[in-house]
Amino acid sequence: MKSKNELTHRNHQNNDKIKTKVQGRIAEGSGILQKLNKLHDVTAKIDNTRTREEILNLIRLEAKWLLNYDVCFTGILNQAKTHYIVNTLSLIADAGDLNHKHFSVEEGMPGWVIKNQASFIGDIETAPHFSFTLEGKIQELGIQSLLVVHMKTGNESIGALVFGRIKQGLFSEEDTAIAQLLSLYLATALKDASIFEDARKRIAQIELINKLSNQLASMLQLETLLNTSALTIQKTFNYFDVTIFLLNDEKTEIELVAHSGNFIDFLPHGYRQSMDKGIVGWVARNGEKILCNDVLQDPRYHTYEYHNTRSELAVPITVENQVVGVLNVEDTKLHAFDETDTVVLGTLSDQLGIAIKNAKLYEEIQQANLKLTELDKMKSEFLGIVFHDFRSPLSSVMLAGKALLKNEIVQSQPRVKEYLQIIVDQANRLNQLAEDTLSITKIESGQLNYFFKIVNIERLIQDAIAMVRISSRHKIAYKIDPNVAFIKGDQTKLRQVVQNLVSNAVKYSPRGGTVNIIIEDLSPEMLSVSVSDEGIGIPKEHIGNLFRKFSRVNTGEAKDIKGAGLGLWICKEVVEAHGGKIWVESEGGKGTTMKFTLKKAQ
Ligand code: ATP
Ligand code: MG
Repeated sequence: MKSKNELTHRNHQNNDKIKTKVQGRIAEGSGILQKLNKLHDVTAKIDNTRTREEILNLIRLEAKWLLNYDVCFTGILNQAKTHYIVNTLSLIADAGDLNHKHFSVEEGMPGWVIKNQASFIGDIETAPHFSFTLEGKIQELGIQSLLVVHMKTGNESIGALVFGRIKQGLFSEEDTAIAQLLSLYLATALKDASIFEDARKRIAQIELINKLSNQLASMLQLETLLNTSALTIQKTFNYFDVTIFLLNDEKTEIELVAHSGNFIDFLPHGYRQSMDKGIVGWVARNGEKILCNDVLQDPRYHTYEYHNTRSELAVPITVENQVVGVLNVEDTKLHAFDETDTVVLGTLSDQLGIAIKNAKLYEEIQQANLKLTELDKMKSEFLGIVFHDFRSPLSSVMLAGKALLKNEIVQSQPRVKEYLQIIVDQANRLNQLAEDTLSITKIESGQLNYFFKIVNIERLIQDAIAMVRISSRHKIAYKIDPNVAFIKGDQTKLRQVVQNLVSNAVKYSPRGGTVNIIIEDLSPEMLSVSVSDEGIGIPKEHIGNLFRKFSRVNTGEAKDIKGAGLGLWICKEVVEAHGGKIWVESEGGKGTTMKFTLKKAQ
């Protein structure tokens, strides 16, 4: 883009060339030179202006010295070049109430001049494109002769500049020359100003779109997302009224899901409408935008009694190429929207599509989670009941088996003794599994109650060791720091933790070795318990998962050792309920150390 200075410089060169040409053509001494000098002053002042308002104001104040007129206004073309908008620059034009009115290029003298790329000098009565709503208005106020010149930059037409006089007597050739020079200047200056304003507006819009997109991306609740979007789009871009519609699953109806704006008594939330109706329906059906600056001219528009829409811009919202909704803005003014709005809303509707997709996915995941939690709860409850009922028959089997083992006859029959031992061991295993499962169901349903009391740590370790069946290949040793004696905790559950760790240490050291239990003094508040073995160890990649429910190492030697994958998960729950932490230090093949911390009794 050219800088304002470059453009200004070019303007000066243009002006000097034209000035010399006109000077040559018009007789000297006619006062024209004075006017040209004045024109030079005016154009120099225009160069120092920034905005369109400043430029038009300057013409309003200074053009009177160049041309003798009573009425002056510009008709500036819209982007689509279908209409022009009047900007009044004289009191008479103001009195005609013409300011900011829109006219079709098919209408009025500015339209004629634009279409024919020519000037018009003449009596208002004989104007070829006389319009009652434009020329008629100023005629009513006494204007009789007109001078209308084309405003263009290069080949681009940007509008027309109109002068009118009350008294009879037409404008002269000289007036036309001055008016043409002025309009050339004005056109270039207005074009520059609009480029600058456009660029500024665009940068501001990009910043706003970015901000809005970031906000949308972080919203996962669909309803909040839609409401916030409608509100922010309306406020940020100062639209008169914004609505968002979503299609139903059958794609037959659209539903109003969010609204923000100035229409009072607007359609209620949840309002449904057939997709065959209205501009929004058309967009939902065809997946294409509609920019309509005069809705009454558009047969697709569906009139509602409660609001007086004149312009409407509706863009589809799509997710993976499917139309899911429509973003719709309306205004009570004609020609309220232009291409820039289309770009802005197009970008926002893309962002909305992505955000809606995320929000819907999130909703689905939440629903699925809810179902899974429900299923999990049912499963836990079922297991709880089954295993609870397992325990008493199993206890009877174990008790009877243990009693039989002590029997003299059994003692004298090695095979019977061996089989009986298998029965007792396996019943014991089943019992352990039932205990674990019950603990799980209780932990999951939040029903696991802890009974805290002062516990002697050495007793606890001894009890746990006594519960584990140890083969002749294993040795168990423990060492306790003399500074620690008591902890505060649930004796039964902590014993179960140590028991689980010791039984793992034995189970995963199939070739035997020593299991070392060490209790260390960590700090005035904490102690640690570690259980080390010389067994198969745990491969690094499995270490992160071990404390999860049903997690087992199913490679190498570990694969052949039976287990449910519950022991460590229960240990973690119990240790954490005591305010401690549990972790593992191990390398495949080099044995394992399981360590946890506990609070000392104070
Ligand atoms: P159970 O629920 O009967 O205890 P499990 O022993 O398989 O079954 P966890 O005690 O939770 O389950 O242990 C999980 C996994 O961690 C085990 O399957 C095993 O692969 C690995 N593991 C645990 N302790 C050791 C250890 N001391 N040495 C090697 N691997 C171990
Ligand atoms: Mg285990």
